[in-house]
Amino acid sequence: METWTYAQARAVKDTRPGRAVLTFRSAGPAGRGKLPLAGIGRFRYGVPLSKYLPRMASNMRLVLLGAPGSGKGTQAQRLRDQKGIPQVSSGDLLRDAVARGTDLGKRAKAAMDAGELVTDDIVLGLIRERLGRPDAAAGFILDGYPRNVAQAGALDALLSELGQPIDTVVLMNVDEKALVMRLTGRRTCPACGKVFNVYSSPSQKGDKCDNPEHGAEAPVLKQRDDDKEDVIANRLKVYNDQTAPLIEHYTARGVLKVVNADQPVDRVYADFVKVAV
Ligand SMILES: [Zn+2]
Repeated sequence: METWTYAQARAVKDTRPGRAVLTFRSAGPAGRGKLPLAGIGRFRYGVPLSKYLPRMASNMRLVLLGAPGSGKGTQAQRLRDQKGIPQVSSGDLLRDAVARGTDLGKRAKAAMDAGELVTDDIVLGLIRERLGRPDAAAGFILDGYPRNVAQAGALDALLSELGQPIDTVVLMNVDEKALVMRLTGRRTCPACGKVFNVYSSPSQKGDKCDNPEHGAEAPVLKQRDDDKEDVIANRLKVYNDQTAPLIEHYTARGVLKVVNADQPVDRVYADFVKVAV
């Protein structure tokens, strides 16, 4: 973790508590940029910034783990919107690089066009680029990467090289039975798009849509192909096989925190913030 002093920092733009933004310049990997100083009222001259770092957003370097359907994407977006630290999703980085036609994007596109997996060195290259942007100096939320222990090792090496090691890994924990019911129970009306769940929020008209707009011609609800039981079972198996060892990896490093994601979204978020900040 870098320790800038107030003298090195150029200016605090707005000193009101919760509004302060520090413009900094450093010789380290963070370079120059701006830091939101969440929760800090006032700086004292000459006090190393490291004194303040535990209270600032800048030690929020997070990795989010969770099964498909655990709601981790939603939670990451919420934290991003509230704390101003970027959500870095490997999928988004890939799509963006391909769309912009960067070197890494071209290599990724060639692999995808050939029906191959995009290699880890391409994804790590994209993550390196992304974390080099000023907004990531205040922290980041990695979502969707790493997916296995080999990737976690490569990521650890990259982040230690950048001087931005992971602070916390948050596991969005859900009971597998509940998850299967949530996903396989989902039904959608093909006409109006209303979403039901046969276990938790069934239609008043059984297997037909209960939206009164349809009158007597209520359409039959449909299940999406990727919500079918065998598809779900396979996605969960892949997740368990590859991600369970990650839980051990990060537990051994002492950075794993577990959030109970079998709760209403707001409760999950409150627990998430408690362990992440
Ligand atoms: Zn309908």
